[in-house]
Amino acid sequence: MFSDKNDFKEVFLKRLEMMYGKTFPESTSRDQYFTLGNIIREYISINWIGTNEQYRFNNQKQVYYLSIEFLLGRLLRQNLMNLGIYEIVEAGLNDLGIDLDEIEEEEADAGLGNGGLGRLAACFLDSLASLDLPGHGCGIRYKHGLFEQKIVKGFQVELPEQWLRHGHVWEVRKPDLAVEVLFWGRVESFKENGHLKFRHVDAEGVTAVPYDMPVVGYQTSTVNTLRLWSAEPSSYQAGRDMMKHKRETEAITEFLYPDDTHDEGKTLRLKQQYFLVSASLRSILRSYLSRKRDIHELHDHISIHINDTHPVLAIPELMRILLDEHGLDWEEAWEITSRTFAYTNHTTLSEALERWPVRIFEPLLPRIFMIVNEINERFCQSLWGKYPGDWNRIEQMAIISHGEVKMAHLAIAGSFSVNGVAAIHTEILKQREMNLFYQFYPEKFNNKTNGITHRRWLLKANQPLSKVVTNAIGSEWIHQPEKLQGLHAFREDRMFLEELHKVKNHKKQQLAQKILEQNGLRVDPESIFDVQIKRLHAYKRQLLNVLHILHLYNRFREDSSFDMHPRTFIFGAKASPGYFYAKKIIKLIDSVAKLVNHDPVVKGRIKVVFMENYRVSLAEDIIPAADISEQISTASKEASGTGNMKFMMNGALTVGTLDGANVEILEKSGPENIFIFGLTAEEVMKYYAEGGYYSMEYYHHDEHIKQVVNQLIDGTLPDSADHFEEIFDSLLTENDQYFVLRDFASYAAIQEKAGKDYEDTAGWLQKSLINIAGSGHFSSDRTIKEYAADIWGITGKELMKK
Ligand SMILES: *Cc1c(COP(=O)(O)O)cnc(C)c1O
Repeated sequence: MFSDKNDFKEVFLKRLEMMYGKTFPESTSRDQYFTLGNIIREYISINWIGTNEQYRFNNQKQVYYLSIEFLLGRLLRQNLMNLGIYEIVEAGLNDLGIDLDEIEEEEADAGLGNGGLGRLAACFLDSLASLDLPGHGCGIRYKHGLFEQKIVKGFQVELPEQWLRHGHVWEVRKPDLAVEVLFWGRVESFKENGHLKFRHVDAEGVTAVPYDMPVVGYQTSTVNTLRLWSAEPSSYQAGRDMMKHKRETEAITEFLYPDDTHDEGKTLRLKQQYFLVSASLRSILRSYLSRKRDIHELHDHISIHINDTHPVLAIPELMRILLDEHGLDWEEAWEITSRTFAYTNHTTLSEALERWPVRIFEPLLPRIFMIVNEINERFCQSLWGKYPGDWNRIEQMAIISHGEVKMAHLAIAGSFSVNGVAAIHTEILKQREMNLFYQFYPEKFNNKTNGITHRRWLLKANQPLSKVVTNAIGSEWIHQPEKLQGLHAFREDRMFLEELHKVKNHKKQQLAQKILEQNGLRVDPESIFDVQIKRLHAYKRQLLNVLHILHLYNRFREDSSFDMHPRTFIFGAKASPGYFYAKKIIKLIDSVAKLVNHDPVVKGRIKVVFMENYRVSLAEDIIPAADISEQISTASKEASGTGNMKFMMNGALTVGTLDGANVEILEKSGPENIFIFGLTAEEVMKYYAEGGYYSMEYYHHDEHIKQVVNQLIDGTLPDSADHFEEIFDSLLTENDQYFVLRDFASYAAIQEKAGKDYEDTAGWLQKSLINIAGSGHFSSDRTIKEYAADIWGITGKELMKK
């Protein structure tokens, strides 16, 4: 298409004129962005078609990753790098006086997810394609992704997100591949050749239209597909109120549910879930059968992965298709189905375990409900076979009980593999949360520690650091991230450590500039950048961080001899709109920022910054600039975390609890290169089981704790009057469910140690280097190779080479 920058310029200028009917000098950055995006997508389509052909003609097993969220962020720069044309394009644009950074700003983040779960799905797609593995995503094309956050007078304000406002260059609408999804109606039975059969009648159809996005592997010809479904009204049907139908249909894919923990309990949410799986299965089966494959061998040729329980209705949906449309008998249909699906659990928080009231489920999906009922009955029978008379156990494990459908139970019963997302999380599933299922199906359970794509989180997000790394150890790490280990050889190399230092400073200066522009606040790049960015949730304990800041402030105020290395505390977090407690914490961070940032006593020592609208592109700006990564969840609550891995890979040191993947980060970095504090998961679970924790004791016996807790309500904080009582109560009256006060002293002590260690610059840089060197293990390439080998049984070129 173009082979050098001059070729590229010619193509670019011609296309710009064709698309916009303007000359180059008249064009805007947006015109330029869309022009470039169009050219690149066309460039991609050659290999996209090639990959699809190859999959069609080869007998390769295919994997489909079903996820209600895909948090992709921006794609332009990643695509350019993966295609290997970044330098040509950048040089060509430079000749024209166009700054790639500037036109990149025209690309809206595709924010079709809340947080870690959705970002994991996006990282997995990148690794699948980059490892030449036949794995595709299936999701929903929400018209509005996660809300845009503004902070107004310290309060979170939510605005509808508008990523499609100017169109999305990477998607291709495929109306000819649209399918129908059926809701409501009733089930009729009839006899056919002596067999009892069922059909779903009087249903309301909704049209699901696929929008395909290419997933480009890193410097390979593989281009996989992310298929996102959009709901559109079906054609006119007599007797139907078409306006109402249109409204109701479009609502299905209008908004992403802005919640990552609790289930909203709404019919619309269930509709979204069924819409996703029904449309996806139709298209998966159509493509499978078009290859003239036998439906009885489905599980040999296809694996379908269920990312958390949201897509779990795919299990009864496949049963329905096999029974009602292909005429299989139950036993055979179940055998195929339960050998096709694999399920990942993402949380043990009980409020996040999905359950649907039968009264909502049954009328919306009458045939699916019948099938779930039958699955439940047979499942309970098999339990009875193994545990005769143990009613209590069977009741706890049933898929339907007390008028509710338990989605996790359905997922475990209908899948051949159940995995947790970090070693400690999987152990908790096996030994506690899902222990009864583990006893019954020990062979299904396995661990797959999460990962992140190092191509986005290092190569793209931190190009200066990538260059330093490549200069030292060569570029093999881009294909084999474990090779980052080679950096260990530079531990004592002062020149090299100085290079690392320069890169970090450069990134800190860039972030300081951004903070000045966005927050109007000047921060010192020489200070420690101490960062906590993630969804706002009580278990993630932003509260512990902010109370500690208040404590440091008190020390400065009360003791003129107290000093510490200057720190800039940086926060970014969205709170779910209905989660009032989380919103109060945002307000608290803002109040503490106001108090601290304007007090001459701590001037030049502490600054607090809340950066609004946390999302993938902002994470890419912040993480490379971090010195300290805050991963301070109550032990046992964070299944894995992936933010922790991104920071490690960018040379930040973790201050964290022994929770989720922090445990494995400790193993890779070594205890001298990480700051661990607080209760262990065992201790936390013991407290939950046996009691024995009284937050009031910590309040009364620790002066520092008493002081900061009192300051929530005593007027110390600007406009605290009506706001922080609830937080105060959560800590004392409600006995501090997340052990903030219990871990406070230990947190303050480890933070003090981190601050002291930072003053030994060479020592710190060495620790930072060791973290980067050990981070290759947390590449999603490693994770995906494990899924491919242990769960899906698929191979690609890369795996065959080995
Ligand atoms: C990585 C990432 C997350 C997950 O962060 P955790 O710290 O693991 O909770 C959430 N949101 C965005 C935008 C991310 O990039």
